[in-house]
Amino acid sequence: MSADTAIMPIPGPVDPVPVPRAVKPRADGRTELVGLPKDAIRAAFESAGLEPRQAKLRAKQVWHWIYNRGVSDFAAMSDIAKPQRGWFAERFVISRPEVVEAQVSSDGTRKWLLKTHDGHDFEMVFIPDADRGTLCVSSQVGCTLNCRFCHTGTMQLVRNLEAAEIVGQVMLARDALGEWPSQPEGRMLTNIVMMGMGEPLYNFDNVRDALKIVMDGDGLGLSRRRITLSTSGVVPMMARAGEEIGVNLAVSLHAVTKEIRDEIVPLNRKYGIEQLLEACAAYPGANNARRITFEYVMLKDKNDSDEHARELVRLIRRYRLPAKVNLIPFNPWPGAPYECSTGERIKAFSNIVFEAGISAPVRTPRGRDIDAACGQLKTAAERKRRSREAA
Ligand code: SAH
Ligand code: SF4
Repeated sequence: MSADTAIMPIPGPVDPVPVPRAVKPRADGRTELVGLPKDAIRAAFESAGLEPRQAKLRAKQVWHWIYNRGVSDFAAMSDIAKPQRGWFAERFVISRPEVVEAQVSSDGTRKWLLKTHDGHDFEMVFIPDADRGTLCVSSQVGCTLNCRFCHTGTMQLVRNLEAAEIVGQVMLARDALGEWPSQPEGRMLTNIVMMGMGEPLYNFDNVRDALKIVMDGDGLGLSRRRITLSTSGVVPMMARAGEEIGVNLAVSLHAVTKEIRDEIVPLNRKYGIEQLLEACAAYPGANNARRITFEYVMLKDKNDSDEHARELVRLIRRYRLPAKVNLIPFNPWPGAPYECSTGERIKAFSNIVFEAGISAPVRTPRGRDIDAACGQLKTAAERKRRSREAA
């Protein structure tokens, strides 16, 4: 096995810490422009030899081509002199993650298997609805956090996605949906959730830099109110997420007692429920108009009793949280140690929360036939490797 494909150790369940692998530089030595702030593009042009004023002007033009027109080839940049287009192409690149496979579910959900420039697979999902279209974006290849009900958590290969690869997912979706040039009205892609593979708060800088470009009015122009970041509860990063990114927060709570949450979300052994809910109460920008979403996966005979529902209400009240609850029917995967709660149980749970005045919709699973539903993301290569190992 080469160093690149060797299995990295998964951190133990007691104190899981992120140990991402290094990103290999691009084989052709060119600099990726996607994901760089406008100023960094200007600086890159300057250090490649352009005069400061030229660099500033070209950075502005190139930015516009990249984010408003969706262009990835310098040759198409008609307001730059031809010889200079060639000069740029030798030194810089505007890329997208490579598409390995694109699938469409019977319910219209689409899933893409993507590949990084250094050969790692990851996934992205688009969920169309009547009034919106939500792109589910990945932040890491795999995840270091082994939540017991999550298929991604069983992946052993982990590398942080670069800002370019995170913004690149949104741009690739726009390519596929035919949504260039960027326009403020009538888009299919209206919302973004950081709920694909990985724990976004363990890749903070790249997620922040990427989302800044997604939110930039001159960039991809999506409002921060239409972007949601989901965390399993990386408490020390939550305040920074609120201050430096400022998007909606979703928290994967999933259990209301220490014993159960320790088992199903092992990060709880490090940052417990009280600490997590205190961080939620302090989350900048959370108020009744912008509520924190608590995600709660429904696991049969594990976390789904009436008493659990009542405790959930008590916790939300005790910390005075502007909250809504999203009940997610467990999406099974081969070898999963849990089953989904019955429809009746989910309904009863939802009613208790709802009657306490807290919105508690049950999420309809989407794209199950193509393994695109929550927690099912795991790349084909990994599935094959696992089944080989099991054989
Ligand atoms: N790592 C982040 C975001 C990605 S997971 C987090 O954990 O919040 C997005 C959501 O899907 C999380 O709430 C996660 O707990 C949930 N999920 C994971 N596996 C699931 C499964 N098998 N069925 C239903 N939901 C699942
Ligand atoms: Fe990672 Fe989120 Fe899956 Fe937990 S639920 S293993 S944090 S992707």
